[in-house]
Amino acid sequence: MKIIMLGAPGAGKGTQAKMIASKYGIPHISTGDIFRANIKNGTELGAKAKQYMDKGELVPDELVVDLIMDRFKEDDAKNGYVLDGFPRTIPQAEALDKALSAAGEDIDFAINVEVPDENIINRMSGRRACVGCGATYHIKYNAPKVEGICDTCGKELILRDDDKPETVKNRLEVYHNQTQPLIDYYEKKGKLKEVDGTVDMNDVFNAIVDILGA
Ligand code: ADP
Ligand code: ADP
Ligand code: ZN
Repeated sequence: MKIIMLGAPGAGKGTQAKMIASKYGIPHISTGDIFRANIKNGTELGAKAKQYMDKGELVPDELVVDLIMDRFKEDDAKNGYVLDGFPRTIPQAEALDKALSAAGEDIDFAINVEVPDENIINRMSGRRACVGCGATYHIKYNAPKVEGICDTCGKELILRDDDKPETVKNRLEVYHNQTQPLIDYYEKKGKLKEVDGTVDMNDVFNAIVDILGA
């Protein structure tokens, strides 16, 4: 099964993608996570990506597309994947289509998690990320057992630099200009499914399972 998660930053794509990955036994591929791992490890790619990420802008398509094509070659991606944060532009979606159709494949579903802009700042300012394993929490809606500490690995939880309100505003604008057109793109391909992302995360997941099949 090949699934794309669409939605604004903070809509809950990552949260749902992790739940999908664990239920259906496919890898969760997040371009944001891959970039953050590269930044942490001090790679050249990380240094390049950071310049854009810090400003809330998109990393150039060529960097992202090469990276994701390499990721698809890994063994665990043979039976599908759930993509979180890719594609984010029409050229990225076209590059994905081209690569898949060359292999006689296609994606199965593009799931749009709908959350209005008014809710997004609240979601992002409360998001906390683990510096160790990348797990995501929310101080109100998905709080860790001990404040500031990851339930899974015990490391520290931080507010991502790009989750500060100044940067979130820019990310939302970038989303509307460059990523939202993908909703139409996948609608035209007959792959689009929409879910209400404002309800409890377990209810969002139930709606997704209804689409994917139990
Ligand atoms: P969120 O989950 O909040 O939407 P991500 O972790 O997906 O954020 O992305 C963080 C940042 O990484 C983005 O603001 C952007 O700078 C960069 N990024 C991630 N994926 C892509 C992509 N497919 N194309 C361009 N930039 C990307
Ligand atoms: P994205 O990957 O789309 O940027 P995340 O999955 O990281 O979004 O979610 C953003 C923040 O909102 C996180 O702190 C997460 O715990 C929280 N969150 C996710 N889904 C919900 C939901 N349905 N209701 C309330 N908070 C949520
Ligand atoms: Zn952790």
